[in-house]
Amino acid sequence: LGASAPDYMSGLNPEQAKAVRTVTGPVLVLAGAGTGKTRVLTTRIAHILKQGLARPSEILCVTFTNKAAREMRERAERLIGPAATGLYNLGTFHSIAAQILRRHAELVGLKSTFTILDDDDQVRLLKQIIEGRRIDTKRFPPKTLAHFIDQWKNKGLTPEQVAKLNDAKKCDEGADFAFGKGAEIYAEYQDRLRVLNACDFGDLLLHTLKIFTQYHEVLAQYHARFKYILVDEYQDTNVAQYLWLRILTNADRNLCCVGDDDQSIYGWRGAEVDNILKFERDYPGAEVIRLERNYRSTKHILGAAAGLIKANSARLGKTLWTEDQGGKKVLVQGIWDSAAEAQWVSEDIEKQKKSGRAYQDMAVLVRASFQMRAFEERFLMLQIPYVVIGGPRFFERAEIRDAIAYLRLIQSPDDDLAFERIINVPKRGIGDATVQKLLMQARVAGQSVMAAVRDLIDTDELPTRARTPLTAFVRDYDRWRELAKTIKHDMLLDTVLTDAGYYDMHRADKVSGQSRLDNLKEMVNSMGDFEDLSAYLEHVALVMELERDAGANSVKIMTLHGAKGLEFPVVYLPGWEEGIFPSQRSMDESGLRGLEEERRLAYVGITRAREEARISFVANRQVYGRWTSQLPSRFIDEMPIEHVEAVSQTGYAQAGWTSQESRWDRAGYQPNYTKREEPKTFGGNLSGVDMSRLESRPHRPSAPAKPQPSKGLPVGTRVFHV
Ligand code: ATP
Ligand code: MG
Repeated sequence: LGASAPDYMSGLNPEQAKAVRTVTGPVLVLAGAGTGKTRVLTTRIAHILKQGLARPSEILCVTFTNKAAREMRERAERLIGPAATGLYNLGTFHSIAAQILRRHAELVGLKSTFTILDDDDQVRLLKQIIEGRRIDTKRFPPKTLAHFIDQWKNKGLTPEQVAKLNDAKKCDEGADFAFGKGAEIYAEYQDRLRVLNACDFGDLLLHTLKIFTQYHEVLAQYHARFKYILVDEYQDTNVAQYLWLRILTNADRNLCCVGDDDQSIYGWRGAEVDNILKFERDYPGAEVIRLERNYRSTKHILGAAAGLIKANSARLGKTLWTEDQGGKKVLVQGIWDSAAEAQWVSEDIEKQKKSGRAYQDMAVLVRASFQMRAFEERFLMLQIPYVVIGGPRFFERAEIRDAIAYLRLIQSPDDDLAFERIINVPKRGIGDATVQKLLMQARVAGQSVMAAVRDLIDTDELPTRARTPLTAFVRDYDRWRELAKTIKHDMLLDTVLTDAGYYDMHRADKVSGQSRLDNLKEMVNSMGDFEDLSAYLEHVALVMELERDAGANSVKIMTLHGAKGLEFPVVYLPGWEEGIFPSQRSMDESGLRGLEEERRLAYVGITRAREEARISFVANRQVYGRWTSQLPSRFIDEMPIEHVEAVSQTGYAQAGWTSQESRWDRAGYQPNYTKREEPKTFGGNLSGVDMSRLESRPHRPSAPAKPQPSKGLPVGTRVFHV
């Protein structure tokens, strides 16, 4: 770069510097994980401002999360000082679009004071509309339609367009909702939103898009304002966001997008990795810059990740190299069961802490939120400070609190709070007025609500339509109390949730129902560790009371999706088992496409690590109180053995895998994934585990491709062609 390079650019490599300096015209930075894409964007902001090319407010910079926006603002501040505070248009698509929409709300029939509905509001409104049409909401749950509407909005489709597509039989999903009424209800929903002076998240983009399309003077205003546009994580933009960016790009086309096709992990939410692939076509003459040097991770971490992602088919392919020579191999730890896994991770964290690492240097990245429970409990017990990023902690989740309320009420009929929480969950037709009346009666008579129910149930005090469901509830309740004396408490919960229709309620919810069911399953599993119901409830009370430590000095627990763009010195990746990761659902629903998205997620996971990636899988996991034997994830086999150290309590490593063996023979890799075999169960008796399936892996000699250092790199540099 020479001595002439300004301070804020020092340390950048030539390609990065080029990406920073090329501020005129369209630029695509297409590069693997940890190559400094985000850093390029931040430095580019500094460069534009330092060179006086634009004022802070004239830069539009889109990040994927608010957290990422905050971090970028902080980094920019460090580079250029207080000027960074004027970066009003640095944020997520939603936050920026909301600002714009406030200014022009009247153009789409809203007032500038419009409210933004959250998911719950959205579902409630849809429910009103669906019920208003006398459509059975059990058969056609509002949540399902909410999901379709989101997807349509992600694709930039208005109700009219959905209707047209449906007529032409081109709309595969959702329009057939309630016998082809999907588009109609969508239209009514939009009308109602307008009347309520409200919009949902999808509308923020669609309304602004509509304004830009219909009002040229408004668009001209933004074309003049946004002199430079920067976009991070471009591979995860959906159609609506893509169109939004296209229309906002002015004739100067000073647009810089950075991304990595291998990290596209939001296909299930409508993201189109194609956006990145067609950039050059969309913006002819675009400069495409590839960054190949990874600054984040050690050679082993990079080698393992590179080897893994190679198994995907539709890829652009990249070269990544690092100057790093040392470092630990990626650890793959086979463990007996899930409790031992949480224990192993906790002990490892403590060891790291003793040898000088801080808690905040470590993160546990899980595939699904139900996996968090075991770690949270273990950390609480050992007093390892932790935070769950991007979601409530396990015991704060609505479904878990509901389940606990059922248990508390069974344990103690006096628990009025528990009664209130669940008496109409799932819906039993017991309205608020009835509940209020019961509470009042209880207070007046100095008794519990349950007692009040028994007193009033055969009187005229209660509306007739509430009496039937209340009677049924009391009958169930008495039965559960009896059952509690004879069956184990985990089985009790399972029975209660089944009888109460609580599982069914979530089963009907096509959007978040499955993850809630998974959490409940996990809860049932964990209850077995406790002597009896009261021991369990006491444990829960203690756990809930322990203070939330949101401090900076804590281990992070988050999902792999939430970890995008972040980095940590040490990353734990638990639960690498078939069916968990790759997740069975994504494979069932999207076949090979789903599997490849899972693999990209694995790639994202490994590449979050700077110094150590520690993967684990267990041989036995409890599902609904039954032990099932697990198979190690195929992703484990896919990592080149030279970058991996395998340690196993399960016999797995010794048997096949140390010679890079694979059940999924790579040469004959079948595009249609293998469906998971029925797990063997052995009813909780550990000595009966059949480990033979883990140990008998066929041998196939394999020679991992020798990395070819490209010319001009320092001697000993590790290059990975991916
Ligand atoms: P991801 O694909 O995971 O989002 P990325 O390409 O955005 O990764 P960054 O997060 O920008 O990568 O950078 C990864 C790490 O490398 C960061 O710690 C960053 O500070 C560091 N880094 C980037 N470029 C350089 C450089 N030229 N010199 C030293 N460190 C660098
Ligand atoms: Mg990044």
